[in-house]
Amino acid sequence: QVKNLHKIYGKKNQNQYHALDHVSFTINEGEFVGIMGPSGAGKTTLLNVISTLDDASEGTIEIAGTNITSMKQNQLADFRSEQLGFIFQDFNLLENLTVYENIALPLSLQGVSSKKIKPNVEKVAQRLGIESILKKYPVTISGGQKQRVAAARALVHEPAMILADEPTGALDSKNAKSLMETIMDLNENHDVSIMLVTHDPLSASYCQRIMFIQDGKLYKEINRNSTREVF
Ligand code: ADP
Repeated sequence: QVKNLHKIYGKKNQNQYHALDHVSFTINEGEFVGIMGPSGAGKTTLLNVISTLDDASEGTIEIAGTNITSMKQNQLADFRSEQLGFIFQDFNLLENLTVYENIALPLSLQGVSSKKIKPNVEKVAQRLGIESILKKYPVTISGGQKQRVAAARALVHEPAMILADEPTGALDSKNAKSLMETIMDLNENHDVSIMLVTHDPLSASYCQRIMFIQDGKLYKEINRNSTREVF
C-alpha cells in the first residue's frame, strides 16, 4: 500500500526535480500489476522507492503489513532479502560466480547453510529449465538463459513480491514470451505478487492491471477484468 508517495531529486535551494508527485495506490496480495508510461515518467523511481533501494521524500509504503518507510537501513536490508525479489533488464549476474552460485546468492546473503541452499536452488532451476547449466559461468550462456538465471535468483528465497524493471528489454520476442510465461506461472501458481515496469506491450499483456504514470503522477488504470480482449 502506497500513500501520498513523493520523491524529490536534488538538494534544497538547487534545481529540484519532483520525480513522483503524491502517488497513492494499493496492490493486493497475489496481484500482477504493470506500470507503463513514457521515458522519464518516474517508473524506475517508483520501483526503486518501493523496493527500498531509494528513499521517499514523503509518504508511506507498507509491504505485507510492514511500514518500510520507517525502517532503519540494516532492517531494510533484511526485509529486502526476505520479502522481495528483483529482475532487471541487464540481468545483473555476477560474472565470477557460477550460475548455481548466482542463484544461491539471496540465500547465502541471509546466512542460510549451503546444505539447505542446495535443494532450493535445484528446485527453482528445474522450474525454470536451467538444471543443465548450473556449473557454467554467465559469459558462456545465452541472453535468454541469463534472464532465467536472474529469475531463478529472484525466486529462490520465495519472496512475497517480485519487482521487475524491463525484464524483457534485452530479450528477443521468443525469450521474452517465455520469461513472461514463467513470471505469470509464478503469479498464478505460487501466489507471488508482481510489479512490472515495462515499455513492452507483449509484457504488459500478461498483467491483470496496468497503471499508467506520467510526470510522476498516476493518470489512468486499466483493469483486465473490465477490458475487452481482442486476439
Ligand atoms: P522512467 O523510469 O519512467 O524513465 P525515472 O524514474 O528513471 O523515469 O526518472 C524520472 C525523472 O527523474 C526523470 O526526469 C529523471 O531524469 C529524473 N531522475 C532520475 N534519477 C535521478 C537522479 N538520481 N537525480 C536526479 N534526477 C533523477
